[in-house]
Amino acid sequence: MINVNDIRADFPILSLQVHGKPLVYLDNGATTQKPLCVIDKIREMYCSVNANVHRGVHFLSQAATDEHEASRRTVQEFIGAASSNEIVFTRGTTEAINLISSSFCREFCKPGDEVIISAMEHHSNIVPWQLQEAISGIKLRILPISDEGEILLEELEKLISSRTKLIAVTHVSNVLGTITPIEKIIETAHRYDIPVLVDAAQSVQHIPVDVQRMDCDFLVFSSHKIYGPTGMGVLYGKEKWLDKLPPYQGGGEMIATVSFEKTTFAGLPFKFEAGTPDYVGSTALATALKYISRIGIENIAKHEQGVLAYATEQLLSIDKLKIYGTSKNKCSVISFLVDGVHHYDMGVLLDTMGIAVRTGHHCAEPLMRRLGVEGTVRASFAVYNTREEVDVLVNGIRRIVKMF
Ligand code: PLP
Repeated sequence: MINVNDIRADFPILSLQVHGKPLVYLDNGATTQKPLCVIDKIREMYCSVNANVHRGVHFLSQAATDEHEASRRTVQEFIGAASSNEIVFTRGTTEAINLISSSFCREFCKPGDEVIISAMEHHSNIVPWQLQEAISGIKLRILPISDEGEILLEELEKLISSRTKLIAVTHVSNVLGTITPIEKIIETAHRYDIPVLVDAAQSVQHIPVDVQRMDCDFLVFSSHKIYGPTGMGVLYGKEKWLDKLPPYQGGGEMIATVSFEKTTFAGLPFKFEAGTPDYVGSTALATALKYISRIGIENIAKHEQGVLAYATEQLLSIDKLKIYGTSKNKCSVISFLVDGVHHYDMGVLLDTMGIAVRTGHHCAEPLMRRLGVEGTVRASFAVYNTREEVDVLVNGIRRIVKMF
């Protein structure tokens, strides 16, 4: 088992006082805090390695290139990809989905073709496809969910048609914490030769993810939600797909040769990485992934499951509190409402007690509509959260309920 006190000591921000109270940070679904090794890596890169990568013949440029490309291999190993050519650095999950929706629809979709997403997607896995409805003429089909917040798998084959070109679905819901039956979705899709994009923004930090075992065609995640820096993300794509897709953006780095008559593009993964890459971000992300691997993702999962079970039990002991998302297959994300207390008021009052939670629609307005609510309060737990912090949250909610 992990030693949470030792882990907490790695995160300087966790010793902050907020409004005179010890910080209880439960907004990890939005972004996680950073361990000192990640912060130190950023400093080290700017203090002793900084130079533009790939093009330079000088010492520093080579050193920065080596670090950047070694980071790509660290990401490859972390998610079990077959080749580092399959790892494209992006600005985050959002950019990665925009890249795939834009390049994929351009190459493979005709007006009237269909893309299936689920009813519990983040806006990042809805709006890029809606943009393609306008640009490429595709149509979105929505895989429904149950009242418990689980994907209705039996509906998938009913939605698949000869026009279905791609299925894009979240691995873990950012609102409900539900772990979707991603392997079964992929298995079904592949029976019809349909590729699957997995939004792993809320899964890679909580549970083991192996892209080859999962057999997904594309997988995307954000560095900042997995203890890494902001502004950095990953697109994994099977080489056979990435090879066929046209570039997303044009510029330096992504070309082989340029002339006014004809420009040719670089090979993978550079074809999708126009402009100077964020080599500081990539190396800091790799540092975060190594940090997680040292603790062990299985150990993290076990610890977080313990905190999730305790928090669920304690929250349900509060009168008139309802948890949204009651699947047994969940990551450490809990959305809830207390009858008679607006989610916004709950968030503001918890903040006065030093407790950081998220309130509102969590960038999932269609899901809110499906649940019949305008918003929820969301507590999302990371490796450094403790049962004592759950107690602080529960006592805080009890005090707030008494005020209303
Ligand atoms: N997908 C899911 C499931 C998310 O939870 C988020 C962020 O909350 C995103 C996509 C978008 O991530 P980013 O804003 O880092 O691009």
